Amino acid sequence: MWQAQQISDLRQRRSELQGKVALVPTMGALHEGHLSLMRRASEVADHVLVSLFVNPTQFGPGEDFTRYPRPVADDLAKCRETGVEGVFAPGPEHIYPPSQLPADVNVPSLSGILEGEYRPTHFAGVCRVVMKLFNIVQPDVACFGRKDYQQLKVIEAMVGDLNLPVTIEACPTLRESDGLAMSSRNVYLSDEERRHALGLIKSLQEAKKMVDAGETDPEVVAKAMVQNMQAHQVEVDYAEVRHPTTLQPLDIIEPALTQGVVALVAGHVGQTRLIDNMLLGAD
Ligand code: AMP
Repeated sequence: MWQAQQISDLRQRRSELQGKVALVPTMGALHEGHLSLMRRASEVADHVLVSLFVNPTQFGPGEDFTRYPRPVADDLAKCRETGVEGVFAPGPEHIYPPSQLPADVNVPSLSGILEGEYRPTHFAGVCRVVMKLFNIVQPDVACFGRKDYQQLKVIEAMVGDLNLPVTIEACPTLRESDGLAMSSRNVYLSDEERRHALGLIKSLQEAKKMVDAGETDPEVVAKAMVQNMQAHQVEVDYAEVRHPTTLQPLDIIEPALTQGVVALVAGHVGQTRLIDNMLLGAD
């Protein structure tokens, strides 16, 4: 497995590859969820490349950028064991040279709602870095997890509207055996907080149960999700049932008439902010 830190080295390696190239963009601290994206990438492409980059522009002031876990040797070993062909692990100085005036890439209708209300600069940072990674690596396919559902919709919109020549492969959320969505941030949780964190998946399961039983009022479902999370000591940021593509609020839940709806939750367990989501009523 080769590694590149400099953009010029990555471009050289890329130019030597024939056939389809898949990129799995990550911030490292790899877990089984990330590895499942890499395995999917190997099914849809001839070469799997992974980027490891804790992107400063997608963190807001006071967020966990400096303490975000960076177990680089461990991450490289996991990539190697999973059959990854090359890793692009640039430093911030390579991606954001101080002399470069920044450009703005954004999906305005999605970037200010839900996560964007709590992290106002987050999706601009995500779009900018993903655009850079696509332009540097030039993948045919890029794999993203449904775990970060809003991010996935933002990237799909960016790629669609800007006609980027890359196919986005949406991959399922991997969970621990008790349902907690795998996340690099789960390492922050104490044993007690780890139990409380189950409030997110429990609230989503409750939402699914209600919608499956015929509940059509999004506010009734949202209220039940909030109560469920609060019962688990989760400090709720939001719990919403939204349109699966536009993420706009719904007047009524009509899963049979649409592609389903998506329930999205976010909250704090102690100092740790967690998100999760579930498609409801989709096939
Ligand atoms: P991150 O390193 O958190 O930026 O995540 C890199 C990619 O892995 C993103 O596309 C995430 O959506 C995806 N991902 C993170 N956690 C999971 C999970 N539990 N299951 C599937 N994909 C995930």
